[in-house]
Amino acid sequence: MQTQLPRGGADSAEATTAAGLIQRCVHCGFCNATCPTYQLLGDERDGPRGRIYLIKQMLEGHAPTERTQQHLDRCLTCRACETTCPSGVEYGHLVEIGRAELTRRKPRPWRERMARRALVSFLTGPLFAPALHVGRWLRPLLPSSVQRRIPQRDRRASPWPRQQQVRRVLLLEGCVQPALSPNINAATARVLDAVGIEVVVAPAAGCCGAIAQHLDERERALEQARRNIDAWWPLLDSGVEAVVFNATGCGTQLREYGWLLRDDPSYAARAARVSELSRDVSALLAPHAARLRDRLAVGAVQRMAYHAPCSQQHGLKARGAVESLLEELGVRLMNVPDAHLCCGSAGTYSLLHPEIASQLRDAKLQALQSRQPQEILSANIGCIHHLNAASAVPVRHWIEWLDAQLVPRG
Ligand code: SF4
Ligand code: SF4
Repeated sequence: MQTQLPRGGADSAEATTAAGLIQRCVHCGFCNATCPTYQLLGDERDGPRGRIYLIKQMLEGHAPTERTQQHLDRCLTCRACETTCPSGVEYGHLVEIGRAELTRRKPRPWRERMARRALVSFLTGPLFAPALHVGRWLRPLLPSSVQRRIPQRDRRASPWPRQQQVRRVLLLEGCVQPALSPNINAATARVLDAVGIEVVVAPAAGCCGAIAQHLDERERALEQARRNIDAWWPLLDSGVEAVVFNATGCGTQLREYGWLLRDDPSYAARAARVSELSRDVSALLAPHAARLRDRLAVGAVQRMAYHAPCSQQHGLKARGAVESLLEELGVRLMNVPDAHLCCGSAGTYSLLHPEIASQLRDAKLQALQSRQPQEILSANIGCIHHLNAASAVPVRHWIEWLDAQLVPRG
């Protein structure tokens, strides 16, 4: 698809990058077959090919309308289209540029901008944990429609291991995860300790920036990335071997630091290095599967369904990585129909588009529960809580399951 850029555009470097990405698209439409919003809504403009065309029109100088915004907003950024595309169109990067361009050319009404800004501050700031605590306390008094939106209390965090190891990794702790499910980070530290890897944290680091990025707060997302790089760099310099993540959504953002900060001369090189050093916890554990299997409790092996987050499959391009590890540990994973489709969580999507998100969740839960698993495991905090809110079968992080099955060393 050729794009005719007008001379002297608002941001010509970004527009040129986007035009290069669009050029690879040959209009074949294969991507529509795996796009959840196209499947649900049946409108070409709610599929990747139509959205690419809308972005191209905008870059060529056509004024974007409310419809343009609606169709780009409805995209889950699940990137299933990217996995399907035979021409290698990097839709994830393209839609980021398209959304930024749309925000420049057609700013949202001020109320919507304020609401988005407030949502970023609330979810990634210090008020989230106490507000969640109060919400849980008041839960029985609230209408059921509000109750469903307040996650139940999760397992308390078990103690972190104390011993020092030769191998050390940094953990991206996340922002909402420690409040929603405090045991996931502790379980990660314990399981890594079991294979001789010590987990350290940098208290000055925080949210990876994904929430701000999803809500059009691009500058804030970049600031959060820079703050994390500054907080991690001294530890990486001192020999810490990787930045490990246990939420694939956050991991996808981390992998993008190099691309996001590519034009910032003070951070580009370090951002690219952080992206290179980012590892999903499953990648660190995979070489130690046999050792872990020897430590599993008798009867630990169960019939499970695994929900592979879009961020794992399409963002990190790590399809099957967690599943292979679980199978090496002896878990019987059941076949899940349409496993490539999004569950509807998609960062803050379920808050902004609750109807589409609920329809996708219903379909996902039907698929996950079709073979009657004992539990559903997953790898991303957003998906886990979104699914748990409507699931008849408990949903939890696979690392918590593994941690709970490990027999303490005698
Ligand atoms: S599959 Fe790729 S090349 Fe084909 S229409 Fe979609 S984005 Fe374009
Ligand atoms: S990112 Fe997901 S929702 Fe958006 S166009 Fe691609 S497949 Fe469709």
